[in-house]
Amino acid sequence: MSHNNTNSDRQRRSVDFSEVRNKVPVDWFFEHLLGGSPKQMSGTIRYSVCPNPECGASSKDSVKVSVKDERWKCFACNEHGDVIEAAALYWGKSLVEAALELVGADADILNSYNRPQPKPAIQRDDLALAEVFSRLVAALPEPTRDGIEYLAGRGISPDITRTACKKGIVLTLPSNPKEAKEFLLDRIGYDLMFRAGLWKEGSKAPAAAFRPLVFVSNNKKAAEFRYLRESRPDEVKSLRYGTIAPWGWLGDSRMRILITEGCIDLLSAVALGTKRSVMGLPGCENWRPEWFASFRGADVLTALDDDDAGRTAFEKLRPVLEAAVGGPIGSYKLPTGAKDLNEQLKQKLGLM
Ligand SMILES: [Zn+2]
Repeated sequence: MSHNNTNSDRQRRSVDFSEVRNKVPVDWFFEHLLGGSPKQMSGTIRYSVCPNPECGASSKDSVKVSVKDERWKCFACNEHGDVIEAAALYWGKSLVEAALELVGADADILNSYNRPQPKPAIQRDDLALAEVFSRLVAALPEPTRDGIEYLAGRGISPDITRTACKKGIVLTLPSNPKEAKEFLLDRIGYDLMFRAGLWKEGSKAPAAAFRPLVFVSNNKKAAEFRYLRESRPDEVKSLRYGTIAPWGWLGDSRMRILITEGCIDLLSAVALGTKRSVMGLPGCENWRPEWFASFRGADVLTALDDDDAGRTAFEKLRPVLEAAVGGPIGSYKLPTGAKDLNEQLKQKLGLM
């Protein structure tokens, strides 16, 4: 029997990983060994320092590591794991060696450690929200005169507004906030609006009552609420509720598709006479690859805004769309002087 190989002796010492995990909180490791200061977030604790030596510390504002349920994950380098994996990575040791070192941590110090508590996770009731939208669609089969007038001013004909309303895409609440509030109380009720996050505790009216133009997503699980007028620079242009989801307009074929930025541009494309099916992204950067899962072999044209944001977004979107389609996609060329489809429409109709 050899007694001179201390390294392999140490390897052979048994170490119970779950005991180490129970004894040493991940947060303690981040605070005491990495020198991180915990930032309490909703449902999680964040740190600006990563156990991966190549990733290391970043500015205090970039809280790139999330710790939750005794696991950590770094959003910068994508490393993740439990406390033993953090220690092994940080010290450049094997898992067994790291676990042995952690188990040697002073029990008194560990016992006096008060771990940071995450803020309670925000409970958003998506089912309640979907119920709100389905009740709104049922309760608002016809657009209001104010709604028709406002959209006509942007080039969208009353016919298209009525059709969009029948499809449950464009809804208009009473334009008087007091009447809108009464309507919402009557048709949806305070409890459901509260559970859906539409009515904040302590407020006299839901913010939606002041934004009567509602664009409902294709899956009826998200919506944008807007003013029936141009918003002022100091105002929030639209309020969004629900998970991010696109708007949809079924054209003559599901295999010829136009992608627009926002719902006004979707409606503008229809008004300009497209026969394509239109998908409106809730923002040029707001999309998910899975939305394009059924696009294989389709003829896809994008029409994002002709500005820096739109062009940058297109360069990110293009490879994802091309992979989904399995071939090249087109990019719509806006006429001179129009930076989006709605401006093209207004130009055509002499509205600008
Ligand atoms: Zn990292």
